[in-house]
Amino acid sequence: MNNKTLLQIAEDFGSPVYVYDADTITSQYNRLTKAFSTVKNLKLNYAVKALSNISVLKLFNSLGSGLDTVSIQEVQLGLKAGFKPEDIIFTPNGVSLEEIENVAKLGVQINIDNLSILEQFGTKHPKVPVCIRINPHVMAGGNTNISVGHIDSKFGISIHQIPLLLRIVENTKMNINGIHMHTGSDILDIDVFLYASEILFETAKNFKDLEFIDFGSGFKVPYKAGDIETNIEELGKKLSKRFNTFCKNYGKELTLAFEPGKFLVSEAGVFLAKVNVVKQTTSTVFAQVDSGFNHLIRPMLYGSQHEIINISNPKGRERFYSVVGYICETDTFANNRRINQINEGDILCFKNAGAYCFTMASNYNSRYRPAEVLIYQGKPQLIRKRETFDDILNNQVEINF
Ligand SMILES: *Cc1c(COP(=O)(O)O)cnc(C)c1O
Repeated sequence: MNNKTLLQIAEDFGSPVYVYDADTITSQYNRLTKAFSTVKNLKLNYAVKALSNISVLKLFNSLGSGLDTVSIQEVQLGLKAGFKPEDIIFTPNGVSLEEIENVAKLGVQINIDNLSILEQFGTKHPKVPVCIRINPHVMAGGNTNISVGHIDSKFGISIHQIPLLLRIVENTKMNINGIHMHTGSDILDIDVFLYASEILFETAKNFKDLEFIDFGSGFKVPYKAGDIETNIEELGKKLSKRFNTFCKNYGKELTLAFEPGKFLVSEAGVFLAKVNVVKQTTSTVFAQVDSGFNHLIRPMLYGSQHEIINISNPKGRERFYSVVGYICETDTFANNRRINQINEGDILCFKNAGAYCFTMASNYNSRYRPAEVLIYQGKPQLIRKRETFDDILNNQVEINF
């Protein structure tokens, strides 16, 4: 995705716009597959919530990926995109028994993360195979909002409750075919990940009919030069070896599953916005773009630092800017960042905008959500139209006074 292509996309499709590169998605998918090439049965289930456009899902289907879903709507999207139900895993948190039953009816693999629903589901449907989400209480996450392993976390069944879990399984005679953990996003230290994996292996020994072990995700991707990223190749080498040994001892070739979101799509996406105003105050130069946290909330929500490049003036003298939006509330994308000289009308490119960006967009300030474009085999294709005023009014019911 060179500057020329991106400027042309902003011209052709308007701004703001999300742009995704199919080649980058494909190479990340292949990189992860390759890292675990010594494992006989590997299953990558792309986490839909990161970027859920149906054309992106179809691309993953063409790569042979499965899907990790957290709502029945994501399951329905996956089925619509052509995935087979058995290639979808449903890993919700805090959803109703009814929703889980409806997903199970579709033939999708269920993953249950609390004892209350496990007991109810197991009692009513003892024949439906169920995966269980374990919380190994290993802290791996960066930001507290995305760290899910701590003792008071709402995610997963605590390893301290394994005796109770085993009693429920025994009483209901339900079939546990998978065991799962997802320790949160932004794993920096693979030794921590391997430590959590040991807890999962230890737990797995309690179940006789496993088909897979799902290690979740949370691989960290670099956001700027010098950022640490999860060393996937090293993790692949170490975990594959350990997994193969486990399978030998277990007496069965299990499937090793992952469910990465960010790793697969973060770097594949950029967000393009146009500079409306350059505003000099007594202390700061603001570049105000035709967007805000209604389109890209991660900097405000997680403090994430998306690199910002002025693709209209990449050779311009570097100056310091605070890049902000047009929302009537503080919506800072970047504070005091060194960027090539910005003029009104320039297009700024926000990197790492593939994961958790469009999917978190809203209509706040009654603005339209942006268009999405996928570059496939060198050709930019519209995969979501920019919204229109009809979309803003859609589902609103007018009453007369
Ligand atoms: C969000 C989520 C993922 C994906 O996490 P990433 O950090 O984007 O890789 C995987 N599994 C579950 C259960 C999730 O909730």
